[in-house]
Amino acid sequence: PRKTNPTDHWASDLLAADVLFSEHQIEQMVGSLATQISRDYAGRDVVIVGLMDGVFMFLADLSRKIDTQHQLDFISASSYGLGTVSSGNVRIKKDADTALAGKHVLLVDEICDSGRTLASLKLLISQRNAASVKTCVLLDKVSRRQADIRPDYVGAVCPDEFVVGYGMDWGGKLRSLPFVGVVRRELYES
Ligand code: 5GP
Ligand code: MG
Ligand code: MG
Repeated sequence: PRKTNPTDHWASDLLAADVLFSEHQIEQMVGSLATQISRDYAGRDVVIVGLMDGVFMFLADLSRKIDTQHQLDFISASSYGLGTVSSGNVRIKKDADTALAGKHVLLVDEICDSGRTLASLKLLISQRNAASVKTCVLLDKVSRRQADIRPDYVGAVCPDEFVVGYGMDWGGKLRSLPFVGVVRRELYES
């Protein structure tokens, strides 16, 4: 079996002792999401839009487990600004290549925190006259929500910690971890 215990892991100096979500747990979560999505979108003209960069590992696993036809596309965006969410407070660095009008769009991000990113992009895509726009995240930090959004598909609720791994980075590091861990607090609270 793969080592997932951070105490004997190359990243152990950066990680809190406990793994938050193990490879096995993630696999179960992704499998369950793929089952629901396959069932709900069967026979529909669906475009799954991943939010780069953090989504790459999650979407690679999710997409190959969805056993119905779907198109894949990617948006790279960064959110900023406080207050009410509008299409104006997300900056699109790379837009989707697909014309989304008339399509059933499923926006996928690896984690929802304040909710600003997903709320802004959901609004933006609805304004392009998509047939429907739903959202999917592996992890949902429900307790930190500020924007008015609740993801439609959620792998698991995430505690209020800064998490890394499975695509999620800390200043560019730790994206490659196959599990989700927590950065040691003393490393960023000092
Ligand atoms: P939101 O717009 O919901 O506040 O933030 C969502 C984005 O922030 C995610 O796509 C992700 O890139 C980043 N993010 C939020 N929480 C975390 C976290 O705990 N760890 C990491 N690495 N990124 C996070
Ligand atoms: Mg992101
Ligand atoms: Mg990031």
